[in-house]
Amino acid sequence: MAFKKRLYSSAYKFKGQEVSVKLHLEEMKREIEALVVAKGFYNKPEDIPKKLLFAFIELGEASDAWKKGHPEEKIAEELIDVMFYILDASRLACPSIDMDEAFAKKLAKNLGRPRQYGEGHRSKRS
Ligand SMILES: [Mg+2]
Repeated sequence: MAFKKRLYSSAYKFKGQEVSVKLHLEEMKREIEALVVAKGFYNKPEDIPKKLLFAFIELGEASDAWKKGHPEEKIAEELIDVMFYILDASRLACPSIDMDEAFAKKLAKNLGRPRQYGEGHRSKRS
């Protein structure tokens, strides 16, 4: 199946900051759905927890590949697997949500937050 390149462009304002992004998450969801159907993978709302668990497993594979010094292509492949499962889960868990719009809104929201917001991202020295 040919992957048509169509970038989604959207702009949002959040706390005075304009955020413009070009995405194709919705198109990726459609490609993933076609793959799921073609390969006979889980494809029901009750399968959402499995898909999210598989995303965690793929995260572990990506971490393991990085720790073992595998080539970047291998690490990227595992991270793509994570994205596949997350977008596939989103297709079933929140089908009315446009993930391109959701991404743009969340990016704008995060850009509006203070520097180093969130516990895990704070520098110990600052
Ligand atoms: Mg994998």
